[in-house]
Amino acid sequence: MAEGVSCNNIGPVILLGPPGAGKGTQAKRIAERYGIPQISTGDILRDNVARGTDLGVKAKAIMGRGELVPDDLVCDMVATRLRSADCERGFILDGFPRTAKQAGWLDAFFEGEIFDKSHGDRCLPIVIRLDVDYNQLVHRLSGRRTCSANGHIYNVYTQPPRVADVCDIDGSALIIRKDDREDVVQERLRVYDVQTRPVAEYYEQKGRLVSVNGDLPMDQVTGQMFWVIEHHSVHAD
Ligand code: AMP
Repeated sequence: MAEGVSCNNIGPVILLGPPGAGKGTQAKRIAERYGIPQISTGDILRDNVARGTDLGVKAKAIMGRGELVPDDLVCDMVATRLRSADCERGFILDGFPRTAKQAGWLDAFFEGEIFDKSHGDRCLPIVIRLDVDYNQLVHRLSGRRTCSANGHIYNVYTQPPRVADVCDIDGSALIIRKDDREDVVQERLRVYDVQTRPVAEYYEQKGRLVSVNGDLPMDQVTGQMFWVIEHHSVHAD
């Protein structure tokens, strides 16, 4: 068993849900409240694309089409990230796992490397799925604007910046992500249905899935997620 990764305190939280469900926004709030890192595979991949790394070069065109980056590339990337010291108290995964294969890989990783140092127990992640109506998703994705400097997310309909197209936090320009354009959005939602829905079924069959109504106002969704995290046992029997 490797040192350095443990589940004492909060433990791993997995956030599932379609693109546009609000995973990024909610993950940031959870990260802030519990002092654990948000691990967004989409953000890490976008950073690799921006820096032109080998991984970024391989991922760029795939992401531009709204398809999924191959499992082995993403799993290696996640393993490296989870072994970092800042994941010791727990972490929140946003956008991973996205295929049944990734979910199986993650369970094996947890089995081998994630444990509670204080009790020596194996621990299980809390899996929360945000459920959102399909038309809402399209509406939210088409209204999404992202800060070009710090990644903060706005929505022109539900959470507009104070000044149009300008980040409230640092005044940087807000951009529309390439994959938030309408044709790509349709493809991402289709890919979610085919490849990521089975991930929720995988955790449901294991009795580990908790659903939260993502159509509720954002603060209520956050409140429900905090409740789930604080009332959920993270240790395996
Ligand atoms: P997101 O920001 O989570 O919507 O992810 C943006 C894009 O990054 C996705 O459409 C995929 O191309 C890629 N991506 C993110 N996470 C994963 C993952 N777990 N597996 C495969 N591809 C991913």
